[in-house]
Amino acid sequence: MPLQWRALDTGRPKVGVRSCPMVFQMVAVPRPVSAGVLLTYKCSGACRHCMYACSPRWPADWIAVDDAERVLEGLASSMRGRYPPDAPVGVNSGLHFTGGEPFLNFELLLGLVGIAADLGIPGIFVETNASWCVTDAVVRDRLRALRGAGLRGILISVNPFLLEHVPFERTKRAVRIALEVFGPRNVLVYQAPFYEELSRLGIEGTLPLEEYLKEGYGLACAELFLSGRAAYKLAHLFPRYPARRFFGSSCRRELIRDWHVHVDNYCNFIPGFCAGLSLGDARDLTAICAGIDPAGYPVLRALLADLAELYRLGVAHGYVEREEGYISRCHLCLDIRRHLARRGDFPELAPRAFYEHLED
Ligand code: SF4
Repeated sequence: MPLQWRALDTGRPKVGVRSCPMVFQMVAVPRPVSAGVLLTYKCSGACRHCMYACSPRWPADWIAVDDAERVLEGLASSMRGRYPPDAPVGVNSGLHFTGGEPFLNFELLLGLVGIAADLGIPGIFVETNASWCVTDAVVRDRLRALRGAGLRGILISVNPFLLEHVPFERTKRAVRIALEVFGPRNVLVYQAPFYEELSRLGIEGTLPLEEYLKEGYGLACAELFLSGRAAYKLAHLFPRYPARRFFGSSCRRELIRDWHVHVDNYCNFIPGFCAGLSLGDARDLTAICAGIDPAGYPVLRALLADLAELYRLGVAHGYVEREEGYISRCHLCLDIRRHLARRGDFPELAPRAFYEHLED
């Protein structure tokens, strides 16, 4: 059955919609109102739940400053004036710098915060795993320098996956000093229930996930995306289903949206949380937002229609369904994409290295 295409109703004038019956209609992409910029995929640890498959095994590739400037200029033009001037930072608002672990290259982070602030980008914050928070002096100096450059706040990650490699006292130090530097309105502890639980239990040092689970605490309060590395490293904790269970659903809402998109250090425009997929070169945001021609992107075309289409594309390239099943539709999607990334030439499957680091 031929795929049906129509431009997403963004509430804005339709741009880039072609009506030629011989050509797929362009898919309009709304200009982002909130975004994250990955400075690198390199990280101090390899969390088992990491959506972006970051780890110490990635090369130390950092976003180039001139590339970042072009990306930030594009984001500034779509984000400026969209928030009240005194709005606190929010997980799904404004601009965040992330990774990987952005503090592994503090000078770059500091410079990019300054560029973003000069461009008038609202709600700038940084996301960190606090692995670098070894002394009060280091943390205070760095956070004050970032605030001076225009950083509004910080998001400190807290969860049992990080606890496997980040001593909890570093997390507590990060939170304590961040509150002092940025104030409570601009410090996001994500996820706060874990912070409260680990504090109450008096955890010191690191703790393997298996120990954490044995003690009777659970993942029930976790906001956990069953995609990325979690699909491979945490699958044993979840029920699994055959591929057909996930047929009949389109990912249009996840792929074509204006909030919490990401740009990586290779300038891939990543839709939402769908790591390993690229809608194009984020240095030219105007071109992406003018519309994507799905004819050149078979994986995107399939995902916008129905996961069953992606499955058929995978099978056509030799993909074999996993006997043990899948924990989520994103697991199925990712497993097929990993197979396709190894077999074919699909420009939207980028960066290719993402698929090689899923099981780090
Ligand atoms: S199934 Fe694939 S495209 Fe859809 S939301 Fe999950 S990762 Fe994204």
